[in-house]
Amino acid sequence: MAAAINTPTPEIGTTNQTDDGYDKKCIFCKIVKGEMGTELLHNDGTVSCFRDIHPGAPHHYLVIPNKHVGNCKSLGKEHVPLVEKLVETGKEILQKNDVTDLNDVRFGFHWPPFSSVTHLHLHVLAPVSQMGFMSRLIYRLDSYWFVTADQLIQRLNSMS
Ligand code: AMP
Repeated sequence: MAAAINTPTPEIGTTNQTDDGYDKKCIFCKIVKGEMGTELLHNDGTVSCFRDIHPGAPHHYLVIPNKHVGNCKSLGKEHVPLVEKLVETGKEILQKNDVTDLNDVRFGFHWPPFSSVTHLHLHVLAPVSQMGFMSRLIYRLDSYWFVTADQLIQRLNSMS
């Protein structure tokens, strides 16, 4: 199971990916490699975190696998440990940035086709209570365009 954390998920039609899981056309792969000048708040060799360029909340972080893993729709049960690691890393980043009320945070993913970057990325937003009208809509609970990390894990666990 743990091997899935380091296993890139091939995407249909993707031919840009190298054996080490780097997709030269993927902006998030470039960010992990330091090619975009984006400040990495975390990189443990498996997952990385950086600030969203268009924050939807006072704290808005993206946590991603370092290797190119496709969007949440392409995942299987074997990816549950990876998704859990993204969430755990998101919580650590929040704590490091003095966000202590984990009841006022949102962890989730846009469901394709409502995602704009194919590289799997967890949105970590806080405090939810300070999110504006548009952000609440974009990262809306129980919508067909946004799934929480818990919902995704539940969905993956129910797969055979
Ligand atoms: P999604 O629409 O769910 O696929 O989310 C993609 C997110 O990536 C959006 O919230 C963008 O603001 C964010 N984003 C895109 N390019 C960058 C970048 N270069 N640095 C940081 N965040 C980015």
